[in-house]
Amino acid sequence: MTLPRELESMIVLPADRRYPMLRSTFTRTCRPAMVMLPANTAEVVAALRFARDQDLPVAVRSGGHGPAGRASNDGGVVIDLSRLDDVRVLDRSRRLVRVGPGARWATVARELSPQGLAISSGDHGNVGVGGSSISGGIGWLARHWGMTVDHVRAAEVVLADGRIVRADASTEPDLFWAIRGAGVGVGIVTALEIEAAELRDVGVIRMTLLADREGEAIRRLVTYMTGAPRELSAAGMLMPYGGEAILSTTAVYAGDDVRLMRKAVAPLRHLSSGLIKQHIQRVPYSALLPCEQLEPNTGQRPGTTTNGLLHAMTPPAAEAISAAVFAPTPTLIQLRSAGGAINDVPPDATAFAHRNHEVLVIGSVFPPQDSGALDTLWDEIAPHMDGSYFGFESRPDAAAFRRCFPGATGDRVLELWRRYDPDEIFRPPGL
Ligand SMILES: Cc1cc2nc3c(=O)[nH]c(=O)nc-3n(C[C@H](O)[C@H](O)[C@H](O)COP(=O)(O)OP(=O)(O)OC[C@H]3O[C@@H](n4cnc5c(N)ncnc54)[C@H](O)[C@@H]3O)c2cc1C
Repeated sequence: MTLPRELESMIVLPADRRYPMLRSTFTRTCRPAMVMLPANTAEVVAALRFARDQDLPVAVRSGGHGPAGRASNDGGVVIDLSRLDDVRVLDRSRRLVRVGPGARWATVARELSPQGLAISSGDHGNVGVGGSSISGGIGWLARHWGMTVDHVRAAEVVLADGRIVRADASTEPDLFWAIRGAGVGVGIVTALEIEAAELRDVGVIRMTLLADREGEAIRRLVTYMTGAPRELSAAGMLMPYGGEAILSTTAVYAGDDVRLMRKAVAPLRHLSSGLIKQHIQRVPYSALLPCEQLEPNTGQRPGTTTNGLLHAMTPPAAEAISAAVFAPTPTLIQLRSAGGAINDVPPDATAFAHRNHEVLVIGSVFPPQDSGALDTLWDEIAPHMDGSYFGFESRPDAAAFRRCFPGATGDRVLELWRRYDPDEIFRPPGL
């Protein structure tokens, strides 16, 4: 294969010393034929055209944190957007920020902090802007400010045929609908305009509690969070701990009034009688997504992940979730606040349709446990769930697709994926 001269400067081949740091994703070790590092939209078009002319499979990568590991491949071309990482305030009065998909949330938080702005994103600083802004983005400001997709106001997209289009509420409205939840199958998003929140400091409470087999601690957590002030969002990790289990919870209060913050978090102490430790702090929002979390993705965390959404944590649901952690298979269960501002958005306004839930439950197993081990545990949990989130599915097969995009939403997603990507360049296989 002859490499066109104009592309040479952006191509990283297996013999290149940068290749080991660029070939993989967070969850998967891969061997692409080449990684392309375009520096602007025109170079993304050139990279895509080259891959299509050579008939090579294409993987698009922003941060490489997707659990499915689809941001790389074996034998194909990876279009790595890490050089498209600009963060620029376009209009301070409208809090409108232009962000490159290759930026990581740690960098975005650091750049916006001096301006008193924050974008509601995920909870980990190394996650890429691109993948999360087109699938969801549920994090520390979820109940207060909604998800990332809820505040995307426009996107620049390179379509499968190489055209560059702007998608917003009035231009390409169908494409704009699809990229807010189902953006993996329509093209390559090369820039996003996102409305930020006015936010400087936040309150953080970190607590570790003993969790019970019956699931009473997690049921109390979700029940309290459902009626808690909207400034409060929480994430809990349920983990085996000897023969017991612990619930490690971080709650974030989106505001700097210490009195209100203490009042909002006080009931969390009583989730279980076994409070092991608790710590409350007031910090800049950017401290939640520290730059120390930035690292290359080299397949360091293989595993299988699935998830489900719940309207309410009923006693049977809580018991089924807890049982997974007390089972002999080592399993990580995460609970994340949904609800609040997320539910202010009508279900058909974006391709993320789940707008009447209160909690997202994520289950993961890691080697030597395989996907079958997770399925066995999840079979008991799944009947309590209603829908799931594409960004936390490591196996985006047809069944997962319908859980993530139920009913008419799924039909519309498939229709738009076919319309914008007729040759199935971007679409996950089998969908
Ligand atoms: C440790 C960890 C923590 C996480 N925490 C959260 C969290 O708190 N909240 C949350 O909502 N999610 C979270 N996630 C899930 C994560 O947000 C999603 O998986 C997201 O897709 C990752 O974005 P990325 O840019 O890093 O992904 P990538 O792996 O680069 O991409 C994911 C998918 O999107 C496609 N894609 C990427 N960029 C583009 C683009 N610019 N245009 C078109 N398609 C593109 C890729 O081809 C791939 O199919 C977490 C994941 C991990 C591993």
